[in-house]
Amino acid sequence: MTSFQDFGLADPISRALKEENYLTPTPIQAQTVPLAMTGRDVVGIAQTGTGKTAAFALPILHRILENRIRVQPKSCRVLVLSPTRELSGQILDSFNAYGRHIRLSSALAIGGVPMGRQVRSVMQGVEVMVATPGRLLDLVQSNGLKLGQVEFLVLDEADRMLDMGFINDIRKIVGKLPIKRQTLFFSATMPKDIAELAEAMLRDPARVAVTPVASTVERITQRIIQVDFAAKQGILAQLLKQEPVDRALIFTRTKHGADKVVKALAKSGINANAIHGNKSQNHRERVLAAFRTGEIRTLVATDIAARGIDVDGISHVVNFDLPNVPETYVHRIGRTARAGAEGVAISLIAGAEEMGYLRDIERLIRVALPREDRRTPGTRDAAPAPSQNRGGRSAPRGHSAHGHGHGGRSHEQSPGSKGPRRPRRGGGNNAASQPTRHESPRPAQGGNSESIQGVAFLHRESRPNTQPNRTHRPQR
Ligand code: AMP
Repeated sequence: MTSFQDFGLADPISRALKEENYLTPTPIQAQTVPLAMTGRDVVGIAQTGTGKTAAFALPILHRILENRIRVQPKSCRVLVLSPTRELSGQILDSFNAYGRHIRLSSALAIGGVPMGRQVRSVMQGVEVMVATPGRLLDLVQSNGLKLGQVEFLVLDEADRMLDMGFINDIRKIVGKLPIKRQTLFFSATMPKDIAELAEAMLRDPARVAVTPVASTVERITQRIIQVDFAAKQGILAQLLKQEPVDRALIFTRTKHGADKVVKALAKSGINANAIHGNKSQNHRERVLAAFRTGEIRTLVATDIAARGIDVDGISHVVNFDLPNVPETYVHRIGRTARAGAEGVAISLIAGAEEMGYLRDIERLIRVALPREDRRTPGTRDAAPAPSQNRGGRSAPRGHSAHGHGHGGRSHEQSPGSKGPRRPRRGGGNNAASQPTRHESPRPAQGGNSESIQGVAFLHRESRPNTQPNRTHRPQR
């Protein structure tokens, strides 16, 4: 399945996808959409960033359109449960974006905000309800919402919901749903307890999973170079001259940063181009075409602009700035080592904040990355390296890291993994005495590749209009 046309989605949905600039389905979409369009239950192993929201939203919207019925007051046809407020808001935004031509009615029910408006928002009934489990149950128990008309249930990030102590709420909610429904169940990992939950809730589900990231990540030589802030530009130019670069893709966090890198490289005699949101579509296409043919060998991009860059032969990915969302790192470095090739990913780290981001990344990929220290000796204390990583083992994230059952509803207020991270303070400073060195990365002991599924990470654009308590009710 190589294009969205092949799915045979209803025309207004296809139009919305074009407007969203979705050209090719991601692997999880290619697997899930056709199955779910037939009405089958699906259990999917996929992480956020793989395009899984569209994987469940598109077939559901298609099926809603096939049979457009009136929603009863205080009811919904689609119920999506997600662990956090932030993720719930993003899912609702996605439904509204894909459903923009079908006059979709939708509402959000999340914890941490007064319930009154949420009660009012579902008074007339909505087609799509996105909720965190605790608040949804409160709404049901206070007679604000009835679940008898639910035809589609989605559980998103099931493992995280379990981690956050929502299991009992979920069981209670599912117990109130009609037996005849379609259930789509997504989780980044599938340990025994999650598999059992899926087993109890799904009927003869089709199973889908995206390619484990590990196979790609293993082919990438990941280098972490600790540098002084002021030296980043110089070291980047040096690296690009020393390394056997075929094509290099350099990531910066900001558009301004991208332009600065291009200018500094030009001063060092390296011809580079930038693509980011302030450049025209025309410019972007021209630059990408030149990068593809090899005319331009060095491309500087922000994450959003780099979305959809599908160029083989990128020998080097350089993180000029480290992303604050760990999944983005995996997505970035996955641009190299395409089609079975080898690749090098180099990250320049300056300061405690970026060191904190690095630790989050290591937790996600379950690999302790070796550091090369190129800071000037007098400045090393300013950006200490973490002591826990020197032994080659990083803490796994997810349930094993936090255990189960702590929390419950109050966790609805905890920010989702996609939100901006707070700046961190660094750990110990034992890297200060480390000589400059480069070791090959090695997997941490006891790593579990299940947790690093999904090479095809996509960057979720922040949607600034994400507000709690939103209801979307077009005029009928
Ligand atoms: P998700 O994994 O659902 O959080 O999606 C991550 C990001 O990828 C979101 O910003 C989506 O809008 C975007 N996205 C999802 N599917 C596609 C696609 N087929 N083409 C381009 N972008 C996509």
